[in-house]
Order: sequence, then C-alpha cells, then structure tokens
Amino acid sequence: MECTKCDREAVMHAAYSGAHLCETHFCESVDRRVRKRIREDSLLSDAATPEDPETWVIGLSGGKDSVVLTHVLHETFAQDPRVEIVGLTIHEGIEGYRDKSLDACVELADEIGIRHEVVSYAEEFGVRMDDVVEDDPENMAACAYCGVFRRDVLSRYAERLDADKLLTGHNLDDEAQTALMNFLEGDVAQIAKHFDASLGGFGDETGGSNGRNNDGTRAESDEFVPRAKPLRDVPEKEVALYAHLKDLPAHITECPHSSEAYRGEIQRLLYDLEENHPGTRHSIMAGYEELGEIVSHEYDDRSADLRECDRCGSATTREICRKCSLLSAIEAV
Ligand code: SF4
Ligand SMILES: [Zn+2]
Ligand SMILES: [Zn+2]
Repeated sequence: MECTKCDREAVMHAAYSGAHLCETHFCESVDRRVRKRIREDSLLSDAATPEDPETWVIGLSGGKDSVVLTHVLHETFAQDPRVEIVGLTIHEGIEGYRDKSLDACVELADEIGIRHEVVSYAEEFGVRMDDVVEDDPENMAACAYCGVFRRDVLSRYAERLDADKLLTGHNLDDEAQTALMNFLEGDVAQIAKHFDASLGGFGDETGGSNGRNNDGTRAESDEFVPRAKPLRDVPEKEVALYAHLKDLPAHITECPHSSEAYRGEIQRLLYDLEENHPGTRHSIMAGYEELGEIVSHEYDDRSADLRECDRCGSATTREICRKCSLLSAIEAV
C-alpha cells in the first residue's frame, strides 16, 4: 500500500484516521502530535527565558514510551535555551529487569547528552522490590507497593532537581485504559484526581484549591511539581513502531512482578472496541477530559485536609503517610 502523502511504501495504517503512512511521514506525524500537545497544553511557560529556563524532569524507565518521549523532546528542544531536560530513572530492585532497562536509559542519555539521575529503592528506603514481593506483609499486589514508592521518589526528586514539570511517557492506550477503569469502577473522585494531577493545559495565574485557574488551566503551584503526559495522543503500537524505526535503545520486556490483571482485561476490551470502532480511544479521552474538568470543580477543596507526615514530612491526609506505613510493615517482617 502506498503512503497517503507520497509515493513511498506505507509502514503503517491508522484505522482511526484512515491514513497509510511511509516511515518518514509516520515519524513526522508522531513528532507533530507530541509538539501539538505541548503547544496546546502551554507546557512551556511564557515566563521561561534563556537566563531562567524551565527544568523538565522525565521519568525515564528505559521502556519504549519514556525513551520515545525523551527522544522527541530532545529533538524539539535541544536548541531551545528555555528548556532543560533531565532524565530520572528509578531502580526498584527487580533482578534482570530494571538492570537491562537502566542500560537503555544510560545509553540514550549519553547519546543525546542530557543530565541523567538514577535513584534506587535500596538507597532511598532500604528495600528491594524482589524482597518486598517475597515478604508481602500487607498481602497486596507488587504494583501496589511499587506505585507508592515510585510516586514518593518522583515527587521528592522532581523537587530536589528543581523541576518545573514532571513528564511521563503515558501513551493513548494507557490513558484510555485508566479512564475506562475509573468509569467502570464508578470512581468519580479518582477521575477528578487524575484530571487535576496530569491532564489539561497550563496557565500562569494562581488558582483555586484544586490547583486550577478559573478558565480550567492549571495554576502555578508551590506545593507540588505538576505532571504532564505529552505522549498521550499517540497509540501504544505507534510508540513501539517509532522506537523501532528510529532504532532507539528501548528495553521491551514485562516486569516479572507485573500484576495488574484488571488493567489487562480492560486493555483487551479496548483493543477489541478499537478494532470494531476505530477512534474509540480518542473519543474516550476527549469525553473524559471534558468530564474531568467539570468534576474537578466539584471536588475543589480536597487539598484542604493535607498535613505533613509525622515521619518523613511529605504531604498526606493521615498522621503517617502511606509510604512510611508500608515501610514499617516491611521492616516488621
Ligand atoms: S510492573 Fe509493578 S512491580 Fe513492576 S515495576 Fe511496574 S509497578 Fe513496579
Ligand atoms: Zn510518505
Ligand atoms: Zn511519611
């Protein structure tokens, strides 16, 4: 099949848009979607200057998503002195899995010459996920521990690295799965939380207690480093194809402790829906963001109950934060 835009052979067909694209036009279309998202979300603040640039910390796991995100951001901003990119890799202590993806991160950071920080659960908390999984004091899935630790590391290091934004490589499939899971679980509070934490554009005013300006854009905040997902318009398969065509050093295997069975079910459901009704993921996300903005107002004063954890000082709604209580449970084994 020929490329829709030139006479070269197509390497992919996007059923949701009807386009057949050759390698060059496909890669350009991925770049363009990421750049459009960055522009539409006003990710780069007007206040950023060459003298006072913004620091964007990327959660660089070494998987295809974060590697592609880092590559596109570097291609886009390497010559722009208003942005500094820093890669942050977390080593969870998962033998044979994270070691390989860490190699991919080091290779990429070296190749494009960005600052790269590596943080491990072992150094931060004195635990390794392999041991946590074995002891399992709370009788939970591995990812339930790991997610709490990861969020803690990401937000503390984003602050330590003086980050203005924390960027992650979530793609369209990831986001549509999360949206659908929140719908199916009937978890409206979680929809508001998801929207507030990482969706929607940025503005410069100082906003209300949900961190939003009156026009729904995200306000500047001293309390936490805002997150963004510039890859969220690109389907997972296209991210993988881009990584392959550009020969990027991505590590593609699954974590041996991966246990998100429900997400797997939703993934298969979405896959079938998309096959039969191309464009489903895009329409889920369009409606979800609109709804997220509305419910975000309803849950406006959530942050009012936040206090400092007695042990570590991080923001929490309880006396001891979730991370500290998990660590006590692990230590007590
Ligand atoms: S799959 Fe689960 S256990 Fe493995 S790295 Fe991801 S969150 Fe951690
Ligand atoms: Zn072409
Ligand atoms: Zn704590």
